[in-house]
Amino acid sequence: MKCKRAIVWFRNDLRVTDNETLVKAIQSAEEILPIYCFDPRMFEKTALGFPKTGAFRFQFLVESLRQLRIRLQELGADLIIAQGLPEEKLIEIGEKYSVEKIFFSQEVTSEEVGVEIALEKSAWAKGIQTESFWQSTLFHSDDLPFPVAQTPEVFTQFRKSLEKIVEVRRTFPAPLTIKYPGTDTIFSNGDFPEYSHFGLKEPEPASAYVELVGGEDAGLRRIQSYFWEKNLLKNYKETRNGLLGFDYSSKFSPWLTLGCISPRTIFEEVKRYERERIKNESTYWLIFELIWRDYFRFICKKHGNAVFQIDGIKKQMDSWRRDSADFQRWCEGKTGVPFVDANMRELNTTGFMSNRGRQNVASFLVNDLNIDWTWGASYFESQLIDYDVCSNWGNWMYVAGVGNDPRENRYFNIIRQGKNYDKEGDFVRAWIPELASINGFNIHQPEDLSTAKLKEFGIELGKTYPHAMVEMVKWV
Ligand SMILES: Cc1cc2nc3c(=O)[nH]c(=O)nc-3n(C[C@H](O)[C@H](O)[C@H](O)COP(=O)(O)OP(=O)(O)OC[C@H]3O[C@@H](n4cnc5c(N)ncnc54)[C@H](O)[C@@H]3O)c2cc1C
Repeated sequence: MKCKRAIVWFRNDLRVTDNETLVKAIQSAEEILPIYCFDPRMFEKTALGFPKTGAFRFQFLVESLRQLRIRLQELGADLIIAQGLPEEKLIEIGEKYSVEKIFFSQEVTSEEVGVEIALEKSAWAKGIQTESFWQSTLFHSDDLPFPVAQTPEVFTQFRKSLEKIVEVRRTFPAPLTIKYPGTDTIFSNGDFPEYSHFGLKEPEPASAYVELVGGEDAGLRRIQSYFWEKNLLKNYKETRNGLLGFDYSSKFSPWLTLGCISPRTIFEEVKRYERERIKNESTYWLIFELIWRDYFRFICKKHGNAVFQIDGIKKQMDSWRRDSADFQRWCEGKTGVPFVDANMRELNTTGFMSNRGRQNVASFLVNDLNIDWTWGASYFESQLIDYDVCSNWGNWMYVAGVGNDPRENRYFNIIRQGKNYDKEGDFVRAWIPELASINGFNIHQPEDLSTAKLKEFGIELGKTYPHAMVEMVKWV
């Protein structure tokens, strides 16, 4: 029998298509109260002084919520915006409006799971039931051929143990209508907080990539454009390591992170593309990358808090430097190493950085500067428009050698990487206009990049351009 009224607590599942939590709530309750709660803890400053959620992600989140509200209104409901601790706020609203059940999607890492546990506890104390669903991955956790606690440590083993065996579940269609509490109940649907409420400054209008607009419609439009209109999927494997422009990779990550689109929706579109256009290594490779995303999610679930610890899951000794000045130069894109700085400047200006860029700047911070990898991960957490707790901390552990990479020392030679992936130096010149006059790959630097070596050649990290460049170019 259906209960009278239920809350759907939206978290990182800001969509109506393929949203099992929403579908199951509609099946179980006569009336649905959709709520998003801004949790102040997500906007606190970290120990290093930057906000956990920076302006780019906040902007993308608010855009996504605005679109979700419109979508829910089209279906006959609305989206209530609340502010406060979800474990308190949702119970308060639940009690006020005689809610019998709260539905939500499960997360995996400690802070988010802590909130779920606290919510469940206070709900039960007030006689409100709760039910939660797993829906952030391509492969459902219940379908894995092993318990999550035995997730293989090595990616290839993980992938091989499921990709040909486990079926991806079908997507749930969007509901046709949602019954919202009647007009006898007066709700205020709540205002969206301003940037200043969380101590943030609105990004310059022209800075972020114009295509990166939050929301389900925008995410689905990106699939439409990347797969069908521009027909780019067929070359994805060859272009995915690009640096300049918008279309070298899918850019699905910000929408995936907030759940504006689901990995299963992308999967079904890839399969349709394979039937209707072409099936090749590139079409497979996009799914391969989504499996990486799943992998980090299950690894985080398996290892819990260890993924945030300095010794990682390998329990590596802490021998990191904690030099604030060098770290600050890295953050600002002022190390004096063009390939690193160009990537960091792109991140600071747009909230986005390519995968190739992320690997390189992370490797530079931990392998060349030997600085505490958790500092880098925290900075990314603050800045990235697509920050995803598992993908970010999992990848950082990987690069820092404290994660589950079977290869010892995954060092990226920044010079070689720059020369390979930015052959003519166009990427560097795009983000460091001071270097516009330097031609070709001379813009990249000497082969040996250890700090000591650089100093030996008179190049000091942080020297501003063009001084450092003059030194470097002499050496090339
Ligand atoms: C140090 C570091 C930090 C990272 N932090 C994040 C993060 O916070 N959020 C995030 O979504 N990705 C993160 N990544 C992974 C990757 O860089 C981005 O997913 C990718 O650049 C996003 O662009 P795209 O959507 O165009 O990717 P595409 O190449 O088009 O890939 C499609 C999708 O596959 C998934 N994917 C691709 N590569 C990876 C990967 N290495 N790990 C996990 N998933 C992957 C993403 O969901 C991505 O949207 C990080 C990588 C590194 C090296």
